[in-house]
Amino acid sequence: MAPLSILIIGCGVAGTPLATFLLSASQPAEEKPHITILERASSSRPQGQNVDIRGAGVTIMRKLGIETMVRNAITHEEGVQFVDENNTIWAENAADKTGKVQTGTSDLEILRGRLAEICYLRSRAVSDEVKKEGGHGIEYIFGDFLQSLDQDDEKVHIRLAKSGEQRTFDIVVGADGLQSRTRRMVWGEEGESERVKQVAGMYGAFFSLPKTANDSLWRRWYSAPGRRGIMVRPSDSRNPDRMTAFMMIMNDTDERLRSAAKDGRKGMEVQKNLVAEYFNGLGWECPRIVKEMQEADDFYYDMVAQVKLDKWSKGRVVLVGDAGYCASPISGMGTTLALNGAYILAGCLTKHFINAAAPTNDPSAAFDAYEHRMRPNVDLAQKLPLGGRAPYIMNLETAWGIWVRNVIVWLISQSGIITFIARFAGPPANKVKVEDFGFRQLEEWQDDGRDGEKV
Ligand SMILES: Cc1cc2nc3c(=O)[nH]c(=O)nc-3n(C[C@H](O)[C@H](O)[C@H](O)COP(=O)(O)OP(=O)(O)OC[C@H]3O[C@@H](n4cnc5c(N)ncnc54)[C@H](O)[C@@H]3O)c2cc1C
Repeated sequence: MAPLSILIIGCGVAGTPLATFLLSASQPAEEKPHITILERASSSRPQGQNVDIRGAGVTIMRKLGIETMVRNAITHEEGVQFVDENNTIWAENAADKTGKVQTGTSDLEILRGRLAEICYLRSRAVSDEVKKEGGHGIEYIFGDFLQSLDQDDEKVHIRLAKSGEQRTFDIVVGADGLQSRTRRMVWGEEGESERVKQVAGMYGAFFSLPKTANDSLWRRWYSAPGRRGIMVRPSDSRNPDRMTAFMMIMNDTDERLRSAAKDGRKGMEVQKNLVAEYFNGLGWECPRIVKEMQEADDFYYDMVAQVKLDKWSKGRVVLVGDAGYCASPISGMGTTLALNGAYILAGCLTKHFINAAAPTNDPSAAFDAYEHRMRPNVDLAQKLPLGGRAPYIMNLETAWGIWVRNVIVWLISQSGIITFIARFAGPPANKVKVEDFGFRQLEEWQDDGRDGEKV
């Protein structure tokens, strides 16, 4: 049988690890799948918010042989400081540097874009090895996206929007994030509002800004009445003179916030003006942050949401990562789920489809096995802390409420019971076991000096 052809849409945190594991299975190079990765952005750009890797995600990071690269790229965030409008620190919760306790800051905090870039470089190194051994490896297509996707019993037929090229694949994997176009194309536009469920009426804006004297390796978290907040966090060693900002608004009545979130990067100007409206006139460092936001070219705005589907595959198309089961930034589990989903999908495809005991052209057994193994992890991650009430407890309506919260976080930080609390309210990353699918262990590898380049 000819090697399988697989299209992976999205060169993010889930897409390239999936390709890397598929190419790390034990069959001869010429029998390994032909993989194409399609990415809408014009290069693997190192942009994105601060994310962390925890529990199962750490095990998978080690299987990929990228621990050294990741540790060299972390933001070194020291923990969280709760500050008021005078920048007075009410409480500090230090990072857990042991990796054992799931507090707000893990020992592996990294910028999403940098992690995606490391995963991409890893996949490219593995692809080069496979090509040297006579296999097809990975073809990367940057700067394009799907215009159409049709499937029959045998194949999936796609057309690229920009180049107009038509191609045919055995299976297609949607790894294109929260606002997945693959999901909308295959599952239908109608029903999207049922699948993408906003969390606590929350919207978030993310961008980077120049560092000032008040900034440090601590994340500073300022809350304003009306359930508004800003986190200013350290960037990485590539950007020592910059910080990142995350501005959040909880409001489920202002339709403008919802409508702006539908427009993606196209609606950036409207989004910026809307966010500015919510933070103009506030104290602390809001004037500086709003000004920098208006000038930022790496601005990203979206609703904070979870993706919930009854089934993650339809025919020959399957979803992985945020596209299928985004848990939201509040869970602190998105990166870990994306890595774990990629690993389990690669394992199930290898075992039940590519190397199936009885050769088959039907991927459904592999997709079902993936779903069976992954679903409990997703259910666990999507159960938000304190029964989903955490955003309401942390982002309060009144100045008085914020004062009480600050007193409580101060008492907690003084009492040293944060470790105890983290056991109940921290991300459930350590509860997830990682199955062994027999992929070869990839050696720890260093930057090949070609990072970030356009391919
Ligand atoms: C503000 C914020 C904070 C977060 N904090 C945390 C945290 O602390 N811990 C944590 O674990 N997770 C966190 N997350 C979540 C984490 O970033 C995601 O869960 C994770 O990146 C999901 O990986 P993914 O590969 O599924 O999607 P992504 O990493 O988003 O990758 C999707 C890729 O698909 C591409 N793409 C999109 N559309 C198309 C298209 N039509 N065609 C081709 N390509 C396309 C995108 O450009 C992107 O490269 C946070 C997220 C946000 C927004």
